[in-house]
Order: sequence, then C-alpha cells, then structure tokens
Amino acid sequence: MLDRPLRQSPIAPTVVFSSKGTQHGFMRLPFSRDDSAWGSVMIPVTVVRNGEGPTALLTGGNHGDEYEGPIALFDLARSLKAEDVTGTVIIVPAMNYPAFLSGTRTSPIDRGNMNRSFPGAPDGTVTQKIADYFQRYLLPLADIVLDFHSGGKTLDFLPYCAAHRLPDKKQERKSFEFVQAFGAPYSMAMLEIDAVGMYDTAAEEMGKVFVTTELGGGGTTTAKSVRIAKTGVANVLKAAGILKGEVQALPTIWLDMPDGDCFSFAEDGGLFEPLHDLGDRVAKGDAVARIYPLGRTGAEPLVVSAKMDGVIAARHFPGLVNVGDCISVLAVRS
Ligand code: ZN
Repeated sequence: MLDRPLRQSPIAPTVVFSSKGTQHGFMRLPFSRDDSAWGSVMIPVTVVRNGEGPTALLTGGNHGDEYEGPIALFDLARSLKAEDVTGTVIIVPAMNYPAFLSGTRTSPIDRGNMNRSFPGAPDGTVTQKIADYFQRYLLPLADIVLDFHSGGKTLDFLPYCAAHRLPDKKQERKSFEFVQAFGAPYSMAMLEIDAVGMYDTAAEEMGKVFVTTELGGGGTTTAKSVRIAKTGVANVLKAAGILKGEVQALPTIWLDMPDGDCFSFAEDGGLFEPLHDLGDRVAKGDAVARIYPLGRTGAEPLVVSAKMDGVIAARHFPGLVNVGDCISVLAVRS
C-alpha cells in the first residue's frame, strides 16, 4: 500500500468549534446518491463555549437504535446556556446519524458499525468518513469524552456507566472518577469482546478521559433510564468543572467483568427462554437460559449455563435467538 498523507475530511461543520456562545448547526457530509445528486448527510451538532475551561465531547447514537443518549443530549443541547458553562461542550446526539434515522444499529448506507470503524478514513464509506472526523478533528479538542450506549434492539442491560482498565493508571483512575460522578445505579469496569475499531479505544489511545454507558435496551427507553442519562451527563459536566454546582451523589453498585467467561453465546438458534432476569445472582453451572428448537415438539431445549458466579448484567432481548447471539453477560461485584 502506498504511504500517502491523509486527505482533509470532506465533512464541513456549519459551527466554529473555537467560537464563544451557543451554536446549533451541522456537520455536513457530502453524499451523492440517486435521490439527491449533490446531497448531504446533515449531522446535528451543538457547541456551547464560554470562558476558559476543559472541553467535553458528548455523543449518543453511535449505534442508531439506542435512545437514552440521544434523548439526554437533544434535551441538553436545547437547554444548556452559555453563561452556565466554563469551557466548551460539544454535543452530537446522533453520531451515526444515518443509522439513527433508520432506527438500526448500523448505517443503512454502508452497513457501517460506527463503533468498529475507527480510526475511519476520509476517502472511505460514509461511516468511515464520520469516524475519521471524530478521530482527527473532534477527539483532539476534548479533555473528557462521554459516549452513551444501551443494548439496542437485541440486548438489554442493567443501567451502568463504565470505563475500561487502561495501561496508564492515572488515566484509568480519572476515568473511574467520572464513572462514579455519573451516578448510574451500577458502575462497571468493562471488558470488550472486540476492542479493535472502537471509538472508546481511539479516545483512550489519545489519552482522553473516556466514559461510556449501557443504560437499558430493547430498542427503546424507560422514564427511569432517561432520567439516569440526564442526571449522569449533568454530573459529568459538574465533575469536570464545566457546570457549576455539586455533583449529585447517588448510590452505585460497582461491577467488574473479570474475563471472557462473562459472556455466553448461543450454540444453536431457537425460542429463547430466560431463566433469570437482569440483576439476578447465578452460580457457576446454573442454567441461565433455554433455547427450544423451533421445528418440532418433544425435542429437548439447549441449556445455556453460567461459566462463573455473578449477576446478570446483560441479556439477549428478542424472543427468538440465532446461533452465535450473545445470550447473557455476567459481572461480579467489586
Ligand atoms: Zn451501542
């Protein structure tokens, strides 16, 4: 492959990230297509800047079917006042905007999963172009990055805020301080199945304080999960010193995902019967779910067992399951 310098991003923001005050605009990405020859993807963005202080980059809709983040961030974007801010708040409620518009995890344009597309490419697909813009233009501006997730249509989670264990212990400690400040009912030291290409990894490798969430799932929200998101983002901005006021201290249960035994995957498809709910304790060897074959009566279901002691932190959401689907995620109290 030729080693050539990266070209400039095709994304043109209609806001100026260094300007003071409140700006609501777009990151405009040219997207030529059948129904709009010189059309664009218009990704909404709000920038609120006042005085000297840190910069928070707040994102939702990294996956298009997860809604607590977009709700909390559309709400924050309309209500945050410049005079209440010391520093800068950059709000992108729906990072993978085409995916968000179609209510799907990945982009309908290129099937791009934003959280597997980093560092992206300025001459790549639409999803790769958005990732590249975050990688080279937005992340470098940020001191603290908060990226909202939930389970989407296929998973459901205990509501938690999370950070990763990191080689740089100072960066790790700071990240977990922000997880504590967020104040979700659960706080997680999170392990990834597949960290390559994640926004999380991109931010962490740049030395940023990065916190994320899993606040529910099933492709919808609850009043409670949205409340957790709104309180959490306000708490993070207060902990960063960007918003005045005390962090609202809320009780949280710390959880840890020690290793790959946390995850159970379906070795066959069928009808999904959960045997425990989110937050339930299970012991190693306990059955967590049954999967009934769909074709005939009288056949024994496949039993999915826990590979460790723990609490159910996530579960498969739809009533039917396909081979390879994640059935459950266990975590231990830390
Ligand atoms: Zn997600």
